[in-house]
Amino acid sequence: MVKTKEFTLIDLEDIKLFINGEWVTAESNSFFSLKNPSTGEIVTEIPRGGRKEARNAIEAASTAFPKWAALTAYERADYLLKLKDLMLDNEAELASIMSIEMGKAYSEARGEVKYAASFLTWYAEEGRRIYGETIPASVSNKRLFVVKQPVGVIAAITPWNFPLAMMTRKLGPALAAGCTGVVKPASQSPLSAFAFAKLVELAGIPNGVVNIVAGATGEISDEIFENPEVKKISFTGSTEVGKKLVEKSAPQLKKLALELGGHAPFIVFEDADLEKAAEGALASKFRNAGQTCVCANRIYVHEKVKDDFAKILVEKVKQLKIGNSLDETVQIGPLVNEQGVQKVEEHVLDALAKGAVVLQGGKRYGEKGCFYEPTVLGNVTKDMKIMKEETFGPVAPITTFKDDQEVIREANDTIYGLAAYLYTSDISRAVKVSEALNFGVIGLNDGVPGTAQAPFGGMNQSGYGREGGHQGIKDYLEEKYISLSL
Ligand code: NAP
Repeated sequence: MVKTKEFTLIDLEDIKLFINGEWVTAESNSFFSLKNPSTGEIVTEIPRGGRKEARNAIEAASTAFPKWAALTAYERADYLLKLKDLMLDNEAELASIMSIEMGKAYSEARGEVKYAASFLTWYAEEGRRIYGETIPASVSNKRLFVVKQPVGVIAAITPWNFPLAMMTRKLGPALAAGCTGVVKPASQSPLSAFAFAKLVELAGIPNGVVNIVAGATGEISDEIFENPEVKKISFTGSTEVGKKLVEKSAPQLKKLALELGGHAPFIVFEDADLEKAAEGALASKFRNAGQTCVCANRIYVHEKVKDDFAKILVEKVKQLKIGNSLDETVQIGPLVNEQGVQKVEEHVLDALAKGAVVLQGGKRYGEKGCFYEPTVLGNVTKDMKIMKEETFGPVAPITTFKDDQEVIREANDTIYGLAAYLYTSDISRAVKVSEALNFGVIGLNDGVPGTAQAPFGGMNQSGYGREGGHQGIKDYLEEKYISLSL
């Protein structure tokens, strides 16, 4: 078991907000408790920041903006690369912090630290390639240019399921572009954000460039949306909250990027390499105990290979070790909280009542903590809740199909459009089905497609905007057209 009392980046006895390079308490002088989902024990108390702290943070970011924007892209890249190095130097501690606050299995949390750091590397490089344009004029005495400038102060509202990666996927491009900002981390995972802020300080990033405010979510977000200094908001979270934020952005027409929920289909054709497909399903479905937006939520297997596929998957799922997330050998940690477990139970009971069968798992695990056994369900049908809503838990529901058109229709029959997966060895089918699926990310014989250098984002009610890739920096830049008359 990894030791947790020896953190150097945060002091669990005295957690503070990070505003303008200083560690501050909340004016409200109130706190909220953070529970470890593996044990149910209270980890620490977090200062409940509110409007005042959000306003101070925005003001700090606004004051810091002109100087930060005036640095060269090379100077900003140096800061980002230093921050990346510090993240990697502190990988073990960052992983432990993440693990105790939201339950991610420690070994997987170490992977997230590397993934989060990779956005800093990528955008340090992309920042040096923010090219403008010259446009041929239609008259001889004019010259036309397009230049790109940072939008200004940005806000990032992040979810608990990837506490570090969702932050760097936003801050990496924002800082590289020359923006400054405020992060509002999820209430279940603020410690990762504060540990990151410590690294921002150690990297010597100027005061006010990055600010972290946790606390009263409604108040903080009201200030973010009402304060005219904030020019862009990037939100990752549920579709339900995303829709509310669209309304809130209207009065000032704030730029908004929305990375929302998903309900990924995972299609296994009869010509697929079943071993590889089961490995992909395992990686996609059970990563983060099934709490990812790109989780394989609806597994469609061709009826000819259904039994073979299910058998291989069940064998793999049986090997998964469940337990306290800090145990380095554990692969399935707890769900984030009791409501998370209840939702999974509700989906499984609904499926069983409508005719599904348990092939593996199917119930809570352990006496304490928020654990649910890694589960595989067979005989799943489209009328079940599990086939319509995000389950956000370690349950793999298997259903069957007979032909390509049928499975494409079923896979697309959702309000979401984030990720989809297909496994086949037929190259024509691979191309045709990939093109027909209405999802922003396709895993083609690949259960883990996400990477810093590729654009990630959804269609339909999974949101809009892209993060990652060269596309991910666009939203943090204004394109300004300059017409010069000689
Ligand atoms: P959530 O409840 O929507 O919360 C996300 C963030 O928004 C948190 O910081 C939360 O703060 C804040 N928030 C909640 N209500 C708000 C409001 N009315 N106004 C402003 N901010 C508000 O989502 P979650 O449960 O943390 O995360 C899971 C969801 O995120 C899933 O649906 C998952 O699919 C999605 N997700 C999407 C992506 C993607 O890239 N598309 C990646 C990861 C996760 P509090 O924590 O204080 O409530």
